[in-house]
Amino acid sequence: MKTRLEVRDVRAEPGGRAQGFIPFGETAGGPLVIPVVILNGRDDGPILCLTAGVHATEYAPIDAVMRTVGEIDPGALRGAVIAVPVANLRMFESRSGFVSPLDGLNLNKVAPGKPDGSSSEILAYVLLNEIICRAQYHIDLHAGDLGEMLLPFAGYAMSGRPEQDAKGEMLARLYTPRLVSLSRPGGTIPPFADGIPYAASQRGVVSIFAESGGNGTLEAADVEVHLAGIRNVMRHLRMIAGEADPPGPRLAARDRSIVRAARAGLLRLEVGIGDEISAGQQVAEICNVFGEVVERVRSPGAGLAGLVWAHKVVNTGDPIVRYWVTEPC
Ligand SMILES: [Zn+2]
Repeated sequence: MKTRLEVRDVRAEPGGRAQGFIPFGETAGGPLVIPVVILNGRDDGPILCLTAGVHATEYAPIDAVMRTVGEIDPGALRGAVIAVPVANLRMFESRSGFVSPLDGLNLNKVAPGKPDGSSSEILAYVLLNEIICRAQYHIDLHAGDLGEMLLPFAGYAMSGRPEQDAKGEMLARLYTPRLVSLSRPGGTIPPFADGIPYAASQRGVVSIFAESGGNGTLEAADVEVHLAGIRNVMRHLRMIAGEADPPGPRLAARDRSIVRAARAGLLRLEVGIGDEISAGQQVAEICNVFGEVVERVRSPGAGLAGLVWAHKVVNTGDPIVRYWVTEPC
């Protein structure tokens, strides 16, 4: 028998929809809140939580969650969806990248948070304990942040519980078109131990991390990667009608490395996201202010270009491209 589903004052009856704000603190300008939408299906089934805007200049994932909650009919839904379209509203309104303008912290690096910490730590704590942990499944939607052009991927933090990990790996494979990142504690690939999906996974939620889009853009093709991923996961979980597309061959991430500038100047980039880079390949040249080439930047290893920085001027040590070391899976 289906029952009412509620997160504090946001309450949805079976077959119904509810939305509202969950307060978690305040500033001198007013309350700090988390927007929540609940779609409570008429029939029993799993609860799926969707969160976007942990980094609130990552617009493709935010739009995908907004479109998803607008399109699902709770009358035809099995189970329920609890969605947070923009987790960090202060970043959203101020168009701030990476960190909260309130305390300078990265919400995806302070999990599991704490109830008596700074505003980002409290936000992480409330998100995790009052919203995400209400669900059996969770997708944390991201993109490249400002200045980052990113190849889509999905990841899952292995918990050491075989049954949960099999589900998490399956969801990541169902979501992403190409690249899967399954992390282990202390490893070099995401999701990392200070992030929200890792903390949710540790609490028994099958929580994946999914990236598409980047560089402060909102492109339909990037949104569609997220929409297709959500749809495929919901079909797999039998929450909506239709057959899930079975995951085809994927690339599994094993490691990743950043190629950096040693010299400074104008950057003439020679690779793009999704390119296969070979060891020793030239990825860029750097030109000083007199127009002389001062460095031909070569990749030390081979891999798949997963992140290309948008900056066209570099200083010593600046990142140029990050590549994944992968194997078929
Ligand atoms: Zn992000």
